[in-house]
Amino acid sequence: MNENEITINNYLKYLSEGKLMGSKCKTCGHVDVPARKLCSKCIKPETEWIEMSGKGKIAAFTSINVGTPYFVKKGYDRKKPYVFSIIKLDEGPMISAQLVGVDESHPETIKVEMPVKVKFLKVEVEGLPEKVDLGFEPA
Ligand SMILES: [Zn+2]
Repeated sequence: MNENEITINNYLKYLSEGKLMGSKCKTCGHVDVPARKLCSKCIKPETEWIEMSGKGKIAAFTSINVGTPYFVKKGYDRKKPYVFSIIKLDEGPMISAQLVGVDESHPETIKVEMPVKVKFLKVEVEGLPEKVDLGFEPA
């Protein structure tokens, strides 16, 4: 596997090393996260890795009481909801991720535009290899 190649596997490998990586277009300068081989703006296949600051703001969020099977496996249920969010990174791109370090049972305490920073969430779920999920927490 070529480590420099922009693939979702390499993106996830960087994530497991505590790096949030995007791609920057060599033609128009547009930044995509997760990293993409093709620029999403001008469709040119000339992009390069760029490490994100991991800082951003909440663009949207929702508190989820009935989780996906994956989140149920991670231990969330009606009594322990989780918050899923769309984060606008300081560099521009939007990315969806779990929001942690907030009061999930009182989503009214969470505000759009709240500054957040990246948090790498180590996940140990029975039957699945150990991995790191992307998360954000209040900055
Ligand atoms: Zn471009």
